[in-house]
Amino acid sequence: MPRILLHACCGPCSLMPLSALKDEGWEPTLFWFNPNIHPADEWLKRRDALREVAEKFDVPLIEQGDVPDPAEWVRGLGGQTAFGERCALCYRPRMLAAAELAAAQGFDAFTSTLLYSKYQNHESIIREAEQGAARFGAAFLYRDFRPFWWDGINMSKELGIYRQKWCGCILSMKEALAQQKEAEERKAAQKAERAARLAVEAEERRRKKEAIAARQAEKEQKRKERLEKKAAEAERS
Ligand code: SF4
Repeated sequence: MPRILLHACCGPCSLMPLSALKDEGWEPTLFWFNPNIHPADEWLKRRDALREVAEKFDVPLIEQGDVPDPAEWVRGLGGQTAFGERCALCYRPRMLAAAELAAAQGFDAFTSTLLYSKYQNHESIIREAEQGAARFGAAFLYRDFRPFWWDGINMSKELGIYRQKWCGCILSMKEALAQQKEAEERKAAQKAERAARLAVEAEERRRKKEAIAARQAEKEQKRKERLEKKAAEAERS
């Protein structure tokens, strides 16, 4: 059976690539190397989730690297901090490390679970992986795992695998938190707007009721006056 080194960014993204590669007849080995997942506790959570996946799928896991320093990563970007620009610089060390290890340990090919995420740039990953493959004499296997997106999400939930809330780096974390704050503020504003609208509507209903009651009281008063007038006239005659 041909052996493939599967670079893995996290537990949930590994599930479907593992299944698909096994179905194709590959014998996968997971490879944890992610030098810009921040902060430290997030890096540890994702690594532990991958260990869980390796155990559940009964596949070997090779771990490389230690908890990374966010400040060092940002410095290394040399100002290319925009989403997309920085992502190519994020794929590069991963693909280089995977290619080097695949060549050194005689794997028939290497690939990455980054190709499962619909948020990643496939062209950029392919470019970085092929450069790594050429440099170390390894074979890169391209697969588009994105059609398995929902299957992977459902499986990770069923298995209770830790699911992250941002892509990985400190910048993506800040962006995700800012988006979340924005969404919460939008929701709170919509809630307040709805409450104000309901209060105005309730006030309108109360005023209408009051006006109806006042009209009815006026009618009743007139009716009483008519009856009293008739009674007085009857008495006089
Ligand atoms: S957003 Fe994701 S892919 Fe892009 S640099 Fe950050 S961790 Fe890497």
